[in-house]
Amino acid sequence: MRKSDIWIVIEDSKVFQLSEIVEVLLKEWEFLGKNYVRNKVQSAVYSWVTCGLIVKVNDDPPVFALKKYADDWKEHYSGIKTCPVCGTPFISKRGEQDRYCSKKCYEKAKTRRSKEKTRERVKNYLHSADSTAVNKYKEWTEKDIEILRKLKEKGKSCREIATELGRTVYSVRWKLQRLKEAGYAS
Ligand SMILES: [Zn+2]
Repeated sequence: MRKSDIWIVIEDSKVFQLSEIVEVLLKEWEFLGKNYVRNKVQSAVYSWVTCGLIVKVNDDPPVFALKKYADDWKEHYSGIKTCPVCGTPFISKRGEQDRYCSKKCYEKAKTRRSKEKTRERVKNYLHSADSTAVNKYKEWTEKDIEILRKLKEKGKSCREIATELGRTVYSVRWKLQRLKEAGYAS
């Protein structure tokens, strides 16, 4: 792998992070080892920075650009992503697969996901009895309503009542709502 091999990839990329160049070169030079290729790329790029062919346009993470793209490098760079949490554009650190602009947004997304999971679990639990609700399609009888009232007064949950009556949780909630509207306070 010669310096000119590295240059070809850089010319093609215009704006880049070191790891992006390494990634491309490894397709052909993998047998040299990732560390070897990375060191070669690094020293080549810094030598071109020293002589002015390449400009370092961003510090964290380090982004480089060919001199003629240095001013409007953002327009030529594909590594700018939009944070799905706060909507801020940011430069993703290639190789680390980061999807969020900051640790804070990453944590936020994680909390959001775990809340969704909990909600899903509660929903599954609530409706797990629905498939065995044998009276699902039957009309509510006076007797059913009487049992419903008694169980509600005893402080039973909608799921417990649903299981007892062989009905779905939705159905029990709906009936309680109707009774409430009809003057029966729950
Ligand atoms: Zn963000």
